[in-house]
Amino acid sequence: MDKKTDTKSKMYFGAAKLRIPGGVNSPVRAFGAVGRTPRFMVSAKGDRITDVDGNEMIDYVCSWGPGILGHADPRVIEKVKEACDMGLTFGAPTPREVEIAELIAELVPSMEVSRLVSSGTEAVMSAIRCARGYTKRDKIIKFKGCYHGHSDGLLVKAGSAALTTSVPDSAGVPADYTKHTLVAAYNDKESVKELFQANPDEIAAVIVEPVAANMGVVLPEDDFLPFLREITEAYGALLIFDEVITGFRLSLGGAQQYFHVTPDLTTLGKIVGGGMPVGAYGGREDIMRMISPDGPVYQAGTLSGNPIATAAGIETLKILKNDPAIYKRLEEKTKKLADAVRNAAGDKVSVNQIGSLMSIFFTPGGVKNYEDAVRSDLNAYAQYFGFMLDHDIYMAPSQFEAMFVSDAHTDEDITRTCRLLQECMENMHE
Ligand SMILES: *Cc1c(COP(=O)(O)O)cnc(C)c1O
Repeated sequence: MDKKTDTKSKMYFGAAKLRIPGGVNSPVRAFGAVGRTPRFMVSAKGDRITDVDGNEMIDYVCSWGPGILGHADPRVIEKVKEACDMGLTFGAPTPREVEIAELIAELVPSMEVSRLVSSGTEAVMSAIRCARGYTKRDKIIKFKGCYHGHSDGLLVKAGSAALTTSVPDSAGVPADYTKHTLVAAYNDKESVKELFQANPDEIAAVIVEPVAANMGVVLPEDDFLPFLREITEAYGALLIFDEVITGFRLSLGGAQQYFHVTPDLTTLGKIVGGGMPVGAYGGREDIMRMISPDGPVYQAGTLSGNPIATAAGIETLKILKNDPAIYKRLEEKTKKLADAVRNAAGDKVSVNQIGSLMSIFFTPGGVKNYEDAVRSDLNAYAQYFGFMLDHDIYMAPSQFEAMFVSDAHTDEDITRTCRLLQECMENMHE
């Protein structure tokens, strides 16, 4: 096997750091948590991604979720090329915006009315504004370890006592912007109950990742989501499912279909754009009629509903809709990877897997919330990441990110990955 290098990636990273903060346009890409040089990519096809030095790797990042069909699916690329020839942006309504709104409502029936934006961050920010406008209340509840984009009001961490006001989790966010964001613990019903009891008429919405995938993958316990549905109804608050990752991934109808719990509002991103920058938020018609120009809640976007982006999104959703067996295939492949790790590492690690989402936590005893996740041995994670990268397997460069499997992952590549995972886990024992 000829040993390739990361010489050119190192060169680009050096140049990038001079002109781009940290050398990257989104922090996790910097590989800071795993002590390696980020690979600069040039192309990707199917389940493979290729860097500037010519290393071809099996990719389990899949652009953090959009790539459910794998990279550069020819059916999607063809639609994008067709759309490009017709013009890149009009700033006016287009037929494809109607088509994708109808498709979203068909596949995710709770999204009776929806609005397109250009990122998950925007979708969440707008859904929360909508919930506040509708309920005429200011406070929201989010969960520790759940990520909902980088808008000011959501970059919070809990205060020192459970019921105190949250504090900003980023410099540049005024405390005044986060004082309405209350933080509960994932899978902890009591923590939610206490916040409602302390603020009975003030909570506009509870926002949750129905499967948490931004502290690593953490599954909701059986009664957690039904409980959130009940308590929000009891207190006249809305329930928002942030399905930016789970939407069209856990099932065609997302986590809400998978768990049979229907939120009032849903946010989408990642897969809905088929690899282009798209986000969407939507829900019950009476709530969504709050949005301008139907209602008083303002929200807008120059490139919202972009013709190229909607072409990619529509084709991706149609492929998923016409091939329902895809979810079974994804689950089987991902389960193979999970079982390989469980068999090799035993209870030294905690493997969380659901559908095509998976995380290997380097901590024993299971992970069901943020506190469990942060007990992980980050040095062990870095060692695992480095081993896999050196064998041309591109895994999430952080313990607290999900691993994504796509329909393009071949049985052969899954088998090869299983073998390497096993080898890695066994070596780490010693
Ligand atoms: C990625 C993500 C977001 C933010 O989406 P961007 O497109 O990165 O702005 C929001 N919520 C969840 C659950 C996400 O995973």
